[in-house]
Amino acid sequence: MNVYSHADFARLHPTGHHPERPERLRVLQDAFPGWLEGRAATEEELLRSHTPGHVARIRAIDGPTWLDPDTGASETSWEATLLAAGTAIEAAERGGFALVRPPGHHASPDRAMGFCLFNNVAIAARALQANGVERVAIVDFDVHHGNGTQDVFWDDDSVFFASLHQWPFYPGSGGPQEQRETTLNVPMSAGSGDEEYVHAFEHTVEPAVARFGPDVVLVSAGFDAHLEDPLAGMNVTADGFRELARRCAALAPRCAAVLEGGYNLETLPGLVSAALEGFTQNG
Ligand code: ZN
Repeated sequence: MNVYSHADFARLHPTGHHPERPERLRVLQDAFPGWLEGRAATEEELLRSHTPGHVARIRAIDGPTWLDPDTGASETSWEATLLAAGTAIEAAERGGFALVRPPGHHASPDRAMGFCLFNNVAIAARALQANGVERVAIVDFDVHHGNGTQDVFWDDDSVFFASLHQWPFYPGSGGPQEQRETTLNVPMSAGSGDEEYVHAFEHTVEPAVARFGPDVVLVSAGFDAHLEDPLAGMNVTADGFRELARRCAALAPRCAAVLEGGYNLETLPGLVSAALEGFTQNG
């Protein structure tokens, strides 16, 4: 599986000592020097998942500002978010892994939230559908609930959304009662590790996605459920991410992935490497 990224992720949208910072992409690009260059998304591509008001708000940012208590932005954020969304589209179309920032899965149609400005994986799913792909499944194993992705597709039965996440935990949504025909939330207790994740995946996610029958699976690949990640309380290891990735790729004839969270700069490259192994292990 090829890796897609852009040199500007390591420079644009600076965030100081915030955990979501350019260094995340710097260490990843160093670890995967053969990465291929993505592109900027068009506004038309953004508008398939976001309101015109939200797109205009992000485009108009001309200096340091806070979009929510966790989400800073500045004059280069617009460019970074276009590259993140466009590189996610590129990876989705070519079956690759988009290493991008800022992440996207908390961004709802009308709101930035939780380090996320535009919803990269949602924008990529809509781009695939605009090119003739009918049924897309999005599987989100970031430790946080992908509330933004859920919001984008809540009334759209052509996209199945499954999220495994620590719960109760930020952002609060994704509890056991929050289910729908094409929305599957799998809340996990704090302290869960490889065994609990693989068990939940096998017994809950796999049968539901199989019933849906996607043409493509897109993975919101966050690595903050790792046992050494500073932002959450889970115990997944590199072996666990490899196995989750392998099982994701087996869900549909085509698979692609988009980076979400993962904030330990020492462990992040090894975890992405393990997931890449898993994505390409089938067959
Ligand atoms: Zn996260």
